[in-house]
Amino acid sequence: MADRDGVIWMDGEMVPWRDAKTHVLTHTLHYGLGCFEGVRAYNTANGPAIFRLKEHTDRLFRSAHILNMKMPFSKDEINEAQRAAVRENNLDEAYLRPMAFLGSEGMGLRADNLKVHVMVAAWSWPSYMSPESKEMGIKVRTSSYTRHHVNITMCKAKANGNYINSMLALNEAISGGAEEALLLDNEGYVAEGSGENIFIMRDGVLHTPELTSCLEGITRATIMDFARELNIPIKERRITRDEVYIADEAFFTGTAAEVLPIRELDGRVIGAGKRGPVTEKLQSMYFDAVKGKLAEHSGWLTHVKG
Ligand code: PMP
Repeated sequence: MADRDGVIWMDGEMVPWRDAKTHVLTHTLHYGLGCFEGVRAYNTANGPAIFRLKEHTDRLFRSAHILNMKMPFSKDEINEAQRAAVRENNLDEAYLRPMAFLGSEGMGLRADNLKVHVMVAAWSWPSYMSPESKEMGIKVRTSSYTRHHVNITMCKAKANGNYINSMLALNEAISGGAEEALLLDNEGYVAEGSGENIFIMRDGVLHTPELTSCLEGITRATIMDFARELNIPIKERRITRDEVYIADEAFFTGTAAEVLPIRELDGRVIGAGKRGPVTEKLQSMYFDAVKGKLAEHSGWLTHVKG
């Protein structure tokens, strides 16, 4: 990643990819207090477009607010930076990483003179999971790591430091032969994946954990909109891990993972052991929406050119 052509937006200007550097005493590198987004642009009939850019930028600013970081740019400036990052790297499809972090002006927890820096990178990242997993589903393990408690780190912030927990859980799941981890909250109820929200389908009803300790996923909101359009009843409530075992269908949602069927949890096959019919319908609506094929949702797309 470090040595390649292209440009990265840093603190208001585009800089060559190789020059987008920061000091080893960068505060966020030491203590993890920063926030970021994972955003995606897809190719549409009218050129590349960023999916739900406004919602991602709004969440970035909410994260900064929760962490008490004063954003030195407006939402419009950050939106334009993201459009420019896709355009100026000549990308048709892209993963975008805006991040706000604290600089190296001071060290220690008491440093009070820290500058908030903002960067936006964009690169091509065609598939987060193997393409066949979108159809066949993935194997998941319940994690031995508990998801954040609301009063330990701030769950509504997409904060850098929160991802220590995600990485411990994901690495544990992968080294145990699974493809993703399912994290439970501190009371033992289903929370989310390392970087995804979770849904289950049971007896015609779509269930998803309430937002207490999981991230307010933008893909989650998109899928709930689709379910309403399809007249599928939705229940946001506490879910236990054994309810996932006996679900008819289960799937993860996230900007990177998109809509990803779960075929197995803790060695128990879920439903038919592959993508179920409701998952397939919601997944295909999602792919149509991001590619600009759902006219009624064209407002979710921000074109990068023009
Ligand atoms: N939960 C966590 C912990 C995540 O990191 C993500 C990815 N941002 C999600 C859920 C899904 O959120 P979104 O659909 O907005 O990408």
